[in-house]
Amino acid sequence: MSDFLFPVTPVTSIEVDGETAAFPINRIFCVGRNYAAHAVEMGGVPNYEAPFYFTKSPKHAVRSGATIPYPLGTENYHHEMEFSILIGAPAFRVSEEDALDAVYGYCASLDMTRRDLQANSKANRQPWDTAKDLEDGGVFAKATKVADFGEVGTQRIALSVNGEMRQDATLAELIHSVPAIIHDLSKFYHLNAGDVIMTGTPAGVAAVVAGDVIHGEIAGLAPVELTLTAAE
Ligand code: MN
Repeated sequence: MSDFLFPVTPVTSIEVDGETAAFPINRIFCVGRNYAAHAVEMGGVPNYEAPFYFTKSPKHAVRSGATIPYPLGTENYHHEMEFSILIGAPAFRVSEEDALDAVYGYCASLDMTRRDLQANSKANRQPWDTAKDLEDGGVFAKATKVADFGEVGTQRIALSVNGEMRQDATLAELIHSVPAIIHDLSKFYHLNAGDVIMTGTPAGVAAVVAGDVIHGEIAGLAPVELTLTAAE
């Protein structure tokens, strides 16, 4: 048994439908601009060649239903509704054909983003970390095992704020599919149980403010919810 100099922060985790044990989060990878209409609204062009990635610290994950204060250091905090892949088995240099063997399940999630800082980072050719990897910046709903979800197809993915629809698309609009993402990411990382991949957001990202209630849905999965309170 190791001794540590100060208390170790808890492992964050995702609830799983039908299980009393939770899915412990090892790493969080995020795909950028994986829906064409979102790439356009971000001022870019869709890239069909290969996905690109950024990461979030697993320490910054919270569960659906959380109430969090409006974050520090931003005046333009955006919601991004996303379909997340939970990895349950080793995957390294896997083919697209074998990629789904590594999937444990899926969940609805939010990639919360300091959009003003992201825009500034892009303009100055700086990394996105403070825009994307912020405290409480990844929100994860209860997951569904892959066998209970079935194939990823034309399931609706949508998000509303205070009951007003903001994002409304289907998983058929993913530029890079679930197997394509796992195949590609496994060229760079030894993916393994506990890794989570957020697959990108559809068009319609927008700002939220203190008092807002965010509600995201993907057909066949538990909804994801987040409430924002006043800044600390
Ligand atoms: Mn995103």
